[in-house]
Amino acid sequence: MLEIRDKKMCSGCSACASVCPEKCISLTSDAEGFLYPQTDHSRCIKCRQCLSVCPFTNPYKETNPLRSFAAKHLNSEIQKKSSSGGVFSALAERIFAAGGVVAGVRWSKDFMSAMFDIAENMEDASSFVGSKYLQAGMEDIYQRCRSYLADGRKVLFTGTPCQVAGLKHFLNREYKNLLTAELICHGAPSPLIWKKYIEKLRSDCKFTELISVNFRDKTEGQRSYHLCVKGNSNKKDFQSFSQRFYDNLYMKAFLQDLSLRPSCYDCAAKKRRSGADLTIGDFWGISKYYPELDDDKGISLVIANNIEALNFLQTLETVSLHQVCYEHGLVGNCMIEESVAEPPNRGSFWRMVRQNQNISTVLWFMTRPSLKQCFHDTVVKFLSVCGLLNLARRLRRG
Ligand SMILES: Cc1cc2nc3c(=O)[nH]c(=O)nc-3n(C[C@H](O)[C@H](O)[C@H](O)COP(=O)(O)OP(=O)(O)OC[C@H]3O[C@@H](n4cnc5c(N)ncnc54)[C@H](O)[C@@H]3O)c2cc1C
Ligand code: SF4
Ligand code: SF4
Ligand code: SF4
Repeated sequence: MLEIRDKKMCSGCSACASVCPEKCISLTSDAEGFLYPQTDHSRCIKCRQCLSVCPFTNPYKETNPLRSFAAKHLNSEIQKKSSSGGVFSALAERIFAAGGVVAGVRWSKDFMSAMFDIAENMEDASSFVGSKYLQAGMEDIYQRCRSYLADGRKVLFTGTPCQVAGLKHFLNREYKNLLTAELICHGAPSPLIWKKYIEKLRSDCKFTELISVNFRDKTEGQRSYHLCVKGNSNKKDFQSFSQRFYDNLYMKAFLQDLSLRPSCYDCAAKKRRSGADLTIGDFWGISKYYPELDDDKGISLVIANNIEALNFLQTLETVSLHQVCYEHGLVGNCMIEESVAEPPNRGSFWRMVRQNQNISTVLWFMTRPSLKQCFHDTVVKFLSVCGLLNLARRLRRG
């Protein structure tokens, strides 16, 4: 029945496997480390539920945003710990206060993978705080959410647009007690690349065990965030690795779109086709359009996609909200509406990974700047040292 002929047509959301009454669909990893459904045809009763539930073959229609806000958590510690302005925590706090539960993504104990889980209180939900830049395992999260919804508990489900779309298609009916918040999504990096990268880092840093991983450490400000990994080692009790995102090889491969899932190059869940009530992400255009709100500690862009979501936002007590123009939110964040293009060297990247070469070498080689870029950078550096950079720029502009 269900067969994935074109990998761009499957986000790995797991709705098909979750809906199958015979449990004959399993998700298995391909050579790039992404999960795809595989059907045991001998047990299939040809009910076609897996086909009708798929959000990539039956996407919802695009919708228009209702209202947009710049937002940050009123507790500056939470704002600092969060990837953007901490809106996720404000949403979760409100849901817990109403007796609900929250579905989000946490690290595995060894930090080698990330997966969905359910939290009953803010202490448990603190493990969801912070973006984990790799595709998370879905586990049986849709069934768990459905069971809480059926019990009448409020549920906040947060995830990438394809994961929200998967949940909505799986449920196949509206629940008044469900609130969904999709993340603005650049794309999902391969869990295999993360595992190889973090294993190498752990061995290079001689960590006996990892204590924490933070993709968005803001010690030097939001715009210059660091990947920060802390661990124990035999030499000292505690050590840490910290590197600016634009110097870090894992982040470079992510942001140069090399390590993304094929479906991310033609995403069927963007432009609010996930059916999410809210869209949350970074407000990168903040310093340009609303400099008075910019403290370089992180600010969220929050979009209410329907009236229920707007009403819910207005009940939040731990967040400041400033209404903004949606188009300003799109600046520096076209990912809300567009997929990234597949880079021409993606094939070479994966060939090198499959040849099992040293992951640091592969990442360095594939993300190094071109000769043209090196020449440009050297000229800019030289002009800047001579104090001639502004003059050169003026002359260039004519
Ligand atoms: C793979 C990925 C790509 C992203 N791309 C962009 C982008 O291009 N532009 C942009 O503006 N924002 C992007 N984001 C969202 C951004 O990084 C923040 O997560 C978002 O702004 C929420 O931040 P916060 O401050 O409200 O709270 P935080 O506490 O930092 O948010 C954490 C939330 O993210 C969820 N989460 C964490 N890791 C994952 C994961 N691997 N998969 C699914 N959910 C996860 C948690 O469950 C929680 O709901 C991306 C996030 C991820 C995970
Ligand atoms: S057709 Fe029905 S039984 Fe067969 S794999 Fe799909 S959902 Fe399962
Ligand atoms: S997109 Fe989701 S529902 Fe569709 S085939 Fe892939 S895992 Fe199954
Ligand atoms: S880009 Fe689309 S398919 Fe890829 S992870 Fe994000 S929502 Fe899913």
